[in-house]
Amino acid sequence: MAVFLTVEDSLQLAGGIFNIMREEGFDFSFDPMACENCDGYCCTGESGYTWVTMEEVSKIADFMGQDIDRFVGLYLVRIVSRFCLKEVKIEGSFHCLFFDEKNRRCSIYDVRPTQCRTFPFWEYFRDNPDEILKECPGACSILDKRE
Ligand code: SF4
Repeated sequence: MAVFLTVEDSLQLAGGIFNIMREEGFDFSFDPMACENCDGYCCTGESGYTWVTMEEVSKIADFMGQDIDRFVGLYLVRIVSRFCLKEVKIEGSFHCLFFDEKNRRCSIYDVRPTQCRTFPFWEYFRDNPDEILKECPGACSILDKRE
């Protein structure tokens, strides 16, 4: 028996197979496979804040086999009552301290903070989708598919 799929069905099927991510309220989808060929847009560039909770700090320190106090001193910046990951400046660009420059990958990927896990579905990009569509090779507009 022949099975015919609509364009919408095909897209959903492809999304399932290739793990393409969508979030309610966002005008773009995200293909995590694109990270394989990306130079680390989300981990480098303009200076910013990668916030971490103490629970995340504990997991990362554990992953690295580090004592928490030592980890906090070496890798975190305290801003009022919160912590964020330190950055390094390389040729005018700010890089997360955990960005592996040689392999162009996150060196703590399995225990990366929630902020990194939820990229690019951030409120800022929801309101500025053009920015993420221009910068992130994994982001793809879904506006044309809604019309
Ligand atoms: S923790 Fe990893 S994923 Fe998050 S900004 Fe740093 S290098 Fe990138």
